[in-house]
Amino acid sequence: MDILVEEVNPRIIINSCSRNSIQFEIHGVDISYVNGLRRAVLNELQTLAIDECVFNRNESVLSDEFIAHRLGLVPIYTDDLDCVQEQRACACNRGCKKCTVTAEIDVTNDTDEPMMVTDKHIQVAKDMLPTRPNGDTLRCLPLVDVDSSLDAIPIIKLNPGASLHVDLTIRKGRGKVHAKWCPVSKCVAKPVPIIVFDDAGLEYLEDFRPYAQHFVDTVCPKGLFELTLDGRVTLPPENLRDCVLCGECERFSKDELPSGVHDAPALPDTLNACYIRTSRTAFLIDIESIGTIPAPDIFKMAKSVLHREYLVPVQAAIQQMTHDAEGFDGL
Ligand code: SF4
Ligand SMILES: [Zn+2]
Repeated sequence: MDILVEEVNPRIIINSCSRNSIQFEIHGVDISYVNGLRRAVLNELQTLAIDECVFNRNESVLSDEFIAHRLGLVPIYTDDLDCVQEQRACACNRGCKKCTVTAEIDVTNDTDEPMMVTDKHIQVAKDMLPTRPNGDTLRCLPLVDVDSSLDAIPIIKLNPGASLHVDLTIRKGRGKVHAKWCPVSKCVAKPVPIIVFDDAGLEYLEDFRPYAQHFVDTVCPKGLFELTLDGRVTLPPENLRDCVLCGECERFSKDELPSGVHDAPALPDTLNACYIRTSRTAFLIDIESIGTIPAPDIFKMAKSVLHREYLVPVQAAIQQMTHDAEGFDGL
């Protein structure tokens, strides 16, 4: 039953990791698996977001729809996501304590200066919060109230005397329904670049140091090539991760060498110092969290969703089809 899933056992090399971002190499998988992982991060993970806004009073210069859109993108933190159900999976009709958290913004600018309304003005109704299995009340609040290092997110400016009163409904959802539930601001994957130096082309560059220096200084937009003390052109493996596969180094030709050099060695008609290729089984993945879920957890959750909701059902379907075909042959 688990043959397919067990076969997918990638090797992970972490290049950098913090609470909000992780960059790693994944080896031993093909591009479809990596793309599945990326799509699981973007579309399948569940988070909380403001889903509904009821405007009781809006005396700002922006229309309700603009403000509702901004509110939807405010990151909402919770310490136990499993405690909140998705509303479509809940037995209630119009929202209950298990699937819905209510909050409000009720601000009046009593000063003589314009006043900025931010996500710090969102007040969660604490008596309406779901209860955790251990009996504690769930923590659910804007991320800015949890992480003091964050700046408040501006929502709207109120003129002196103006008011804003909005009832908010926070629900659990997934990025495939609306981007406001996506837990990341970045999730990109690219194949690991492989550089193949052409010995003949490189020799011509290295025989004459100004050529080699010119190649190192100008050809790569990311400045990844280096010149060793003995005049050799190199590309250190740690630099290769930043290669954007633009192909400029491969396109480099003798026409791009500096002119007016009289004692230069004779050049061949074509000059290829290197070729860029890409791996089919190793990929670089870069994930940046919006802060509500730690980036390493996002990767682990996406991997488990991919296996549980896609690989295992596909495997079961294939086995069923194989079984049915065997039964048909036997008739
Ligand atoms: S492909 Fe582009 S970014 Fe990569 S090493 Fe070559 S020139 Fe630099
Ligand atoms: Zn409910």
